[in-house]
Amino acid sequence: MVSQPGRLIDGDQALSAFRKDAWIVRKDRCCPALLPRIGRRHLLRCESRLHLGGTMNPEPAKSLTGIHLMAKPVGPLCNLDCGYCFYLEKESLFPARQKFRMSDAVLEAYVQRYITAVAAPEVEFTWQGGEPTLMGVEFFERAVLLQRQHANGKVIRNTLQTNGTLLDDAWGDFLKRENFLVGVSLDGPRELNDVSRPDKHGRSSYDDTVRGLAVLASHAVDFNVLVTVSSANVGHALEIYRHLKEIGARFIQFNPVVERDASPKETVIGLHFAVPPALSRTVDADSIGSKPFSEPAQRGGTTLNRPVEGLDATGPAVTSHTVGALAYGKFLTSVFDEWVHNDVGTVHVMNFEWALASWCQLPPTACIFSLRCGKAGIVEHDGSVYSCDHFMYPQYRLGNLVTDDVAAMMDSPAQRAFGDAKETTLPGECRRCEFRFACNGECPKNRFITTADGEAGLNYLCAGYKHYFRHITPAMNIMARLLGEGRSADGVMQQMGD
Ligand code: SF4
Ligand code: SF4
Repeated sequence: MVSQPGRLIDGDQALSAFRKDAWIVRKDRCCPALLPRIGRRHLLRCESRLHLGGTMNPEPAKSLTGIHLMAKPVGPLCNLDCGYCFYLEKESLFPARQKFRMSDAVLEAYVQRYITAVAAPEVEFTWQGGEPTLMGVEFFERAVLLQRQHANGKVIRNTLQTNGTLLDDAWGDFLKRENFLVGVSLDGPRELNDVSRPDKHGRSSYDDTVRGLAVLASHAVDFNVLVTVSSANVGHALEIYRHLKEIGARFIQFNPVVERDASPKETVIGLHFAVPPALSRTVDADSIGSKPFSEPAQRGGTTLNRPVEGLDATGPAVTSHTVGALAYGKFLTSVFDEWVHNDVGTVHVMNFEWALASWCQLPPTACIFSLRCGKAGIVEHDGSVYSCDHFMYPQYRLGNLVTDDVAAMMDSPAQRAFGDAKETTLPGECRRCEFRFACNGECPKNRFITTADGEAGLNYLCAGYKHYFRHITPAMNIMARLLGEGRSADGVMQQMGD
């Protein structure tokens, strides 16, 4: 048992409170709970996923009980050229002249086999990229038609992550009619957004994105805004938060940019960002370019033989877009202070709702803060399935859903090892940390610095997370207590003002 930073409410109280308290839970949506890149408006999936045994770090079942796939129908293609995007460069890892369009055969296989593989009565399809709207609305019309044909009594949900620039009334009509939840990326006011998010000609994308948001609002489509926090906008927390509120955003998520410069070998094969620290399999940069993505990766080397070797503070430098760790923590606390005094219950900041769930002893709902991960696979345009969005390398290719069983791939020894390594590679500093219950060492891709006593594998953002979690503890304790008493958490605003 780790030490507690404050009073935590008991699990049964939490479940009861979360059932009653509509401001924090959207029960009409089933959250894959594994989406670091996509804004979500709700915390909890179905109640069957809640683990309320009163432990600080609930142990997930050994066997996978839920899987989630995120599809990239145009692969890494995008009409924008965001400087921090880790996915654009994946184009260089595919064979030359690759057609990045999901075929109808792959789409049907995906729809049918994914629905079959999900044991739950609800199946969530998440479409992302690249920029998925490049496929045109017709592709998604076909997708929902196939979903209806293959639903087999299950409820189907759809989520689309987009830069919003191509949305028009035809999209608005479709997204509303089919009840899509849409995540739109915007990094703040024009001057901040355009630093990192130009189009392919270096022009501003701000107006097009805001116009896309207006389309969604005018068609009453549910949307949230995903803000990528980079070195360019990290010093403007309140400006960004207030701007989003001004343009009507009520569901917001902040994601930090953490990337390292590619090594010379990685640069040769077209990469600009270093591969993540190895988890369950050895990542050998020499081999990345030698295995076309269309071929199965070698499955050898699945032992944990080089988890973070050479990837500590003396390794590659972080990129210029990468946010400072403490600066990111201060960004979050600046927004939190404004939110907790004014906006609880009316503006939903996912980062704060994730934290509150942890303070209520509910299992983490974002994969980055979970004890283990590995339940959210990526489906590329050709049907290939990968361990995670951030591990889209041949060594992490699990198979192809056209030929391989989806559930078997996601429950394979390799994928289990990938997910389990998030816990088994946790350094001692994290194991002893008072905030482990809410952090769990965050995402393994960011674990490339050393602890004060020289142990490798500490998360680059650690200093920022400690600052943030420490700062929000008093208010989190109040909200958790209110929920435990069956009251609304927005009472925190009055108590913090007293
Ligand atoms: S490595 Fe794990 S924690 Fe990180 S984004 Fe992937 S699934 Fe989430
Ligand atoms: S990364 Fe830092 S804040 Fe998070 S669990 Fe580890 S030591 Fe604690």
